[in-house]
Amino acid sequence: MDTVAVRLRHGLWARGGHERVLRLRTPAPADVAALADDGASPAAWAMRAVAAFARPVGARDARATAADLVLGDQAIALLAVRGLLEEGGASLTLACASCGEELEATVDMDSLAAGEPMPDGPWHEAAFPAGHEGRSGDTEEGDGAARIRFRLPTAGDLAAVVAGGDPSPHTLLSRIVAEPRPQDLTGIERAVADRLEVLDPLAEIMIQAACPACGEPVETVLDPVQEARAAVARAADRIEWEVHALASHYHWSEADILALPEGRRARYIGLVMREAA
Ligand SMILES: [Zn+2]
Repeated sequence: MDTVAVRLRHGLWARGGHERVLRLRTPAPADVAALADDGASPAAWAMRAVAAFARPVGARDARATAADLVLGDQAIALLAVRGLLEEGGASLTLACASCGEELEATVDMDSLAAGEPMPDGPWHEAAFPAGHEGRSGDTEEGDGAARIRFRLPTAGDLAAVVAGGDPSPHTLLSRIVAEPRPQDLTGIERAVADRLEVLDPLAEIMIQAACPACGEPVETVLDPVQEARAAVARAADRIEWEVHALASHYHWSEADILALPEGRRARYIGLVMREAA
């Protein structure tokens, strides 16, 4: 069973420590199939997918580990999931908007996690212009701006906000801004959003390449959830085909076939193919 250790950009904070490595392994075939059939929202699906692949970190179980990843780290984990399931899992096919040519771009996982070291601890500060309606008096400072403390939104925050049916910036802000916070969050929305872009740049991954046919720049936002979801769907299709081939040939039950170690299943598939050739 394949396992991989991926370096996170932000990492997970726990009492007294910081972990920047996440270990992933391919789950049992039945779990891959269940994930492929799971019609959850992208936010909920992404969290379940990472939980299915991730090893627990510290005192967190796999579920809490997946929920506590900041969005950029979740993106790294989802791309690693795709890489685990498929050869060349780091390459993407883009279409040139100018001439329609398809091109391959490679995501460099190591450079994704590189960059400025993250500040100590999960809490950050943002300043926002004072004077708007708010009860933030005790956080006000002499420079005419008030300060609030916030943490980066996690996969769990996003899934909860989507599940709550009101995925507006305010719902998310009320989860990530520490008390005491202004009652009216409008004033701090911009201040926090600006800081989030800097602190968690991988929450939106831009892929840039030059079209080999026409030379125009090709730019697209990578959707790690979509990439992982498509890879899981293809993996489930492969498993289904293998079950079909082995069940037809040996008349074993689905459960018995799925219980085979992956290497042995592959060897039997090889035998069946050889006989069919
Ligand atoms: Zn082109």
